[in-house]
Amino acid sequence: MDVRQQLSYSDAYARTVEARVAAVDETGEAPLVVLDRTVFYPGGGGQPSDRGLLLRTSDGRSWTVRAARRSGTDIVHELEPGEHGPPARDDVVTVDLDWARRYALMRTHTALHALCGVVWRDHGALVTGGNMEPGGGRMDFEFETMSGDLVDSIEATVNAELAHKRDVRVNVLPRAEAFAIPDLIRTKINLLPPGIEEIRTIEIVGLDLQADGGTHVSNTSEVGGIRVTGYESKGRINKRIRLELVDPEG
Ligand SMILES: [Zn+2]
Repeated sequence: MDVRQQLSYSDAYARTVEARVAAVDETGEAPLVVLDRTVFYPGGGGQPSDRGLLLRTSDGRSWTVRAARRSGTDIVHELEPGEHGPPARDDVVTVDLDWARRYALMRTHTALHALCGVVWRDHGALVTGGNMEPGGGRMDFEFETMSGDLVDSIEATVNAELAHKRDVRVNVLPRAEAFAIPDLIRTKINLLPPGIEEIRTIEIVGLDLQADGGTHVSNTSEVGGIRVTGYESKGRINKRIRLELVDPEG
């Protein structure tokens, strides 16, 4: 089996790559394409999949990729159905992300991890879920004592942490080593199936460490700041906090 390169996990800043079409499926409403390498993130962990373009080298024809997803070990690119058919197997294409959208997702995802880090460190509250769009998102916590005053102070603390210009690191650890890190247990890696031998982690140095598959900026200074746009109770214990990005320019 050929190993297909999935660059988003090792280099979040890779926005374009040359690739060869490995498989095409035209049986559904939208053509599906697998490439021998890609910069697309297939979605997961609350981060939506990328969008972008495939551009065929031989004739300059292009296709819009409206979504991507994981299928087994592959990343499948879903093309916008069009008047001309999909590229053929073995065609060489340039893979191009909608970078503005992806970069906004990277900033948003790192901002949400900073929020998790502050809420865990200062209030001992566990994350139970989250979701994001480019520029904004929400996190759910087991956070019985949350209040409006607390949320204001959390917003200020997250912004102070982001302004510390903390590096953000990606690590891939053997399963046993990852399970020995007490902080990782709060992100429920113990729920991962036994077959997974390596755990990918995202560390905001000095603030937060989580098992995570998403794409992040490499330093919190790239996030800029955040504004909490809402919070709500989803029950006595479960609380939700919503935030949006504030651009570094102000
Ligand atoms: Zn995450």
